[in-house]
Amino acid sequence: MIHRAATAALVLLLAACGGGSSTIPAAPALQESPDQALARMSASNANDTRVARSLFGAVSGPTSQAPEAVGFYSRGCLAGAQELPETGATWQAMRLSRNRNWGTPELISFLQDLSRFAATQPGWAGLYVGDLGQPRGGPALTGHASHQVGLDADIWLRAPDRLNLSRAERESISSTLMARTSGAYTNASWTPQHEAILRHAAQDPRVERIFIFPGAKVAMCANATGDRSWLSKIRPLGGHDTHFHVRLSCPAGDTSCVTQDPVPPGDGCAEAQRWVDNIINPPPRDPNAPPPAPPRGPVLMNELPAQCLAVLGSN
Ligand SMILES: [Zn+2]
Repeated sequence: MIHRAATAALVLLLAACGGGSSTIPAAPALQESPDQALARMSASNANDTRVARSLFGAVSGPTSQAPEAVGFYSRGCLAGAQELPETGATWQAMRLSRNRNWGTPELISFLQDLSRFAATQPGWAGLYVGDLGQPRGGPALTGHASHQVGLDADIWLRAPDRLNLSRAERESISSTLMARTSGAYTNASWTPQHEAILRHAAQDPRVERIFIFPGAKVAMCANATGDRSWLSKIRPLGGHDTHFHVRLSCPAGDTSCVTQDPVPPGDGCAEAQRWVDNIINPPPRDPNAPPPAPPRGPVLMNELPAQCLAVLGSN
C-alpha cells in the first residue's frame, strides 16, 4: 500500500510540475496491444451490428482515397487499394473470379519484386499469385481470417512453367501439394528453388512473417547455410502446403495500421521440430484441458475500426 501511495504521489508530482501534459506521456502507445488498439479505433462504432463480410464482399472496386491499411490483419479494411495487374512479365494472378488481387501499394510492389526473383530460379517463370485482399479489404464471404488490410498475400507453391494462362485456366488448374504425413515432411515436389524463394521473401525488410506448413520450416532449418536470422520470420502453420502466406509489416507513416506482436527471438527451428514431432506422435489428450472455444460468429462492423465505415461508403 505504501508503495502504491508513493507511486500515486509521484505521478501527481510529475503531473503538477512544469511543461504541462508534455511531461507525461498521454497514452502508452507503444505498449498498446492489437486488441486495445482495435477497441480504441472502433469505440464510436458500437451500435453497428451489421455483418461486415456481407458488406465488404459486395463491393467490386477500390476507393479513391489515399492508400491506407486500416486496423489489424484480421480486423480491418483497406483504403485506396491498388490492383495487382492480372498478368505481368513474371507473374499471373490466379482465380480472377474472386476479385481478390488488391492490396496496398507496398504489397503490390513486393509481389512484383519477389516474382522477378522467382523468375531467376530454374524451372520458375515467375509466380502464380493467389488471394491478396478484396478491393476494400475487410472480411471475405469465403476463406481467410486475415487478408483484411491489404498486407497479406497467398503465393502458390506450384512452379509456373508459363505465364500465358487464360482466365479459364486460372480458374481450373490447381497448385501442387508439397507436404506428406499431414505436413510433417516435404514431399518429392519440394525443391531448393522453393527454399530460395522463401528465403528471399523472408530477408525482405518489408516482410513481417511468412506462414508455411511445419515440415517445410524444418526442411529449411536443416538446409539453411550462413545467416539464419531470416528463419525467425518463417512461421509453421497447418494447411499452407500448396501455398505460402506472406504478411507485410505496417507501411511507414500509416498511423491507422495496427502492428502485430513481433515474432519470437531465435530461428524457431526447435518449435517447428516439436510441431512435427506432435504430428508424428500425437500427445495423449489432456483430460483436464478446457473444452475448445465455441466457434465465433462472423465479424461485425462494430469490431472493425470506425474508419472502415468511411472506406465502405467512399467513392
Ligand atoms: Zn493466406
